[in-house]
Amino acid sequence: MAEVLNFPRPIPDFDAQEFWDGCNRNELLMQRCKQCKKFRWLPRPMCPQCNSLEREWVKVSGRGKVYSWTIVTHPVHPAAVGRVPYNVAQVQLDEDPELILVTNLVGIANEEIRMGMPVEVVFEEHEPGVKLPKFRPVKESGTASG
Ligand SMILES: [Zn+2]
Repeated sequence: MAEVLNFPRPIPDFDAQEFWDGCNRNELLMQRCKQCKKFRWLPRPMCPQCNSLEREWVKVSGRGKVYSWTIVTHPVHPAAVGRVPYNVAQVQLDEDPELILVTNLVGIANEEIRMGMPVEVVFEEHEPGVKLPKFRPVKESGTASG
């Protein structure tokens, strides 16, 4: 069996180092304005709502819903050759409808993905010392767990 190459590692930039540090602690952090408390993603130096430069990183619930997704079938990167078809999804976080992360959905077949389905973050090791936030379906409460 041929070795499956890994996708490139994320390169922290745009003030995002704290986000990646959070992922490595299994915490999903979002940048928030200290003045008007507006969340924002992607991270940036200035608040788009009040122009404040004061900002903080806040741990969020990690819960959200599927906003959109696509299935990649054509490998556009050597690492994708052994992985297609795979999904790329946008997940809208519960804290603010403008917090939309590009990610992968795990623990679900591509054909089972539905618009608006509730999901929660899970951190997967990309390579030693580098974790990535992915999302999995939330188990419906009240149903038998197995
Ligand atoms: Zn602000």
